[in-house]
Amino acid sequence: MDCIFCKIIEGSIPSKKIYENDKVLAFHDIQPAAPVHALIIPKKHIATMNDVQEEDVEVIGEIHLAAQEVAKQLGVHESGYRLLNNCGKNAGQVVFHLHYHLLGGEKLGPLNG
Ligand code: C5P
Repeated sequence: MDCIFCKIIEGSIPSKKIYENDKVLAFHDIQPAAPVHALIIPKKHIATMNDVQEEDVEVIGEIHLAAQEVAKQLGVHESGYRLLNNCGKNAGQVVFHLHYHLLGGEKLGPLNG
């Protein structure tokens, strides 16, 4: 499958890995939008949030637990961080493998700013 994040999972494209278990992978975004900018992805190929199925509920929970772990490792667990998903064209989704951005390390702007 021609999916860049599947290639990162299988290791044929390198990434700066932060955390991994059997269901999820977290790595540093190559174009950080904040001092801390990680991506957390399911190992299963799911194109967008719209494609999440009942059977994927567990891995979505795993992503939230991984976010806590990543935030601890990157030193933003106490100061705060944002976890966000872009779903589809109007949200600016570029990579069509479900991913959550974990952003922090500075005071983030308001969503309506
Ligand atoms: O949510 P969206 O699809 O716009 O975000 C994709 C993200 O994947 C971008 O922030 C981009 O920098 C990141 N990316 C990456 N490593 C790649 C390809 C894209 O970190 N090899």
